Amino acid sequence: MAFRSGRHSLQIPGPSNIPDRVLRAMDQPIIDHRGPDFSALAKSVFGGLKRVFKTQQPVVIYSSTGTGAWEGAMVNTLSPGDRVLAFETGQFSNLWCVLGEKHGLKVDLVPGDWRHPADAAEAEKRLVADKGHAIKAVMMVHSETSTGVLSPVLAMRQALDRAKHPALLLVDTISSLAVNDFRHDEWGVDVAISGSQKGLMLPPGLSFNALSKKAVEANKKAKLPRAFFEWQPMIDTNQSGFFPYTPATMLIFGLNESLAMLEEEGLDNVFARQERLAEATRRAVRAWGLEIQCADPKAYASALTGIRMPDGVNADEVRKVILERFDLSLGAGLGKVAGKVFRIGHLGWFNDLMLTGALSGVEMGLAAAGVPHKRGGVDAAMEYLGSNIIGMAAAPRAAATGR
Ligand code: PLP
Repeated sequence: MAFRSGRHSLQIPGPSNIPDRVLRAMDQPIIDHRGPDFSALAKSVFGGLKRVFKTQQPVVIYSSTGTGAWEGAMVNTLSPGDRVLAFETGQFSNLWCVLGEKHGLKVDLVPGDWRHPADAAEAEKRLVADKGHAIKAVMMVHSETSTGVLSPVLAMRQALDRAKHPALLLVDTISSLAVNDFRHDEWGVDVAISGSQKGLMLPPGLSFNALSKKAVEANKKAKLPRAFFEWQPMIDTNQSGFFPYTPATMLIFGLNESLAMLEEEGLDNVFARQERLAEATRRAVRAWGLEIQCADPKAYASALTGIRMPDGVNADEVRKVILERFDLSLGAGLGKVAGKVFRIGHLGWFNDLMLTGALSGVEMGLAAAGVPHKRGGVDAAMEYLGSNIIGMAAAPRAAATGR
């Protein structure tokens, strides 16, 4: 690759940018993972994770990508031949179903157009109709990273409750944790699945299962084969700050730092910051005269925006031009929308000028690639950001005026 000066702009929807503080926290001599320093570190991390998931119950940490945590959620709670109800919101919802089928589960997939959220009313209808309680779990992807569609977790819980159905609720929060509000205990989620490389601002390599008491009970009867992903040895050893096998020590150092950063900012401020950057991005897309992949404004994810290309334009060609000309990486369209959509990731450690820089790269790239569009997207984003100042940006002004 040709020599490039300056920083690369990484605006894919994960892995997200890693804060310098987190990089420094991982830049340490390795420590004994069976010694007292590690135990103290791990206990701090488990406490912080519970606060981020908003749970009092155990959170299991795997040394794996998010796919491993999908598998962990299933093999610990279900048995071969069990029926599960799932919702097609994009590529990741579908890949999770494929994983379930490989484990011998029978998946009832409610089809979707990749532009709308999981339908809790449809879930309720199916759960009410399931008089014999053959459905053992409802699986949903909270933030569908392939499309930018956010599905309603609480509404799904309420659908289960109204149907008086005992199925477990399994929720993929891989690109929503520490990006959009998520409340594990309050929303009655049984297993939340997540990963390190998105809102937690870490490299890929750690994944999580947040559990409920009901999930831990289900674990005792679940018959799917499991070994590495078995919860119980983790729950037992984690209590004293240890793992049943070698943990990813350096990533745990990084996680401790990223959890500290999230607490310093405050989770509500994190959610507000992410949503504000997402809204600025959507305003830019509309000003360009382009279409947002998520067709339901109530279901916009804060982690990313999917942008549909006009007919006849190959989204991957546009991304290629933008990468070559402006050293900006954007997310590819996946699965059914490959070549039709590209994605701007605006999650994690990210601010106004990083966003306006990325949007400038996109606007120049649209012109360079000959994509029919209007100018003024960056202006629309700047107008919104400039007149909606929150968080740290607002503080000095408040101090100066004494308010
Ligand atoms: N689920 C969602 C919503 C994702 O965004 C991803 C990855 O981006 C996955 C699952 C799979 O995770 P991984 O690639 O870390 O295995």
